[in-house]
Amino acid sequence: MKTVSIAIDGPAGAGKSTIARQLAHELGFRYVDTGAIYRTVAYFMDLWGVSPKDADGVNRYIDELTVGIEYDESGLQHMMMNGMDVTNDIRTQEISQKASLISAHACVREMLLDMQRDMAKQYNVVMDGRDIGTVVLPKATVKIFLTASAEVRAKRRCDELTAKGQKAKYETILKEIQQRDYQDTHRDIAPLKMARDSIKVDTSEMTIAEVVAAIREIIREKTGL
Ligand code: C5P
Repeated sequence: MKTVSIAIDGPAGAGKSTIARQLAHELGFRYVDTGAIYRTVAYFMDLWGVSPKDADGVNRYIDELTVGIEYDESGLQHMMMNGMDVTNDIRTQEISQKASLISAHACVREMLLDMQRDMAKQYNVVMDGRDIGTVVLPKATVKIFLTASAEVRAKRRCDELTAKGQKAKYETILKEIQQRDYQDTHRDIAPLKMARDSIKVDTSEMTIAEVVAAIREIIREKTGL
């Protein structure tokens, strides 16, 4: 069966996961959050006390890790670390930063590449990340590059955390976002960049519903779906 894949790349906090999840729901596709996979590796290394910058340590411990993706009846993606569900544990600011550093190692990216490609081979997917349109699925049916200014992204993240009852300081979050942008765009392997055949959507001045509608239209034009 020939599958359809929608690749959504972009920097941290551009709204990729919210948008991708809604699109997947509307299309009846599987949503694959690839950031969660890198977060799982970061969480594992953290448990073993391996610094995300320690290339030797990461190389040594990576073979001890099996990453699995499972879906529950509601379509929610669960991350399995050696059989243990770590879906909620990987959603901290600390793991965000560590995942960004961990994802720069070649051994980590290699280990996760086939897993992501296999998902797209088996299912129709909306897959979000940093290198989906450039490296993971260079032949994706539709490629979207979702972006927004760092200030808008920081404000959104701040509001999100506050709504969850967590502490959030705008200046700190803005700095973290800028740092992650720098790391993600300057690494040697699979840096965050727009694929040549990707369509850029700047969400700075758009609501979620507007972004979903705009991308839905692009998908309709390209695939008839
Ligand atoms: O998207 P999310 O914030 O969960 O991603 C966490 C980190 O994982 C990112 O900062 C990025 O460094 C890394 N990542 C990546 N390639 C992807 C998805 C995420 O390098 N396809």
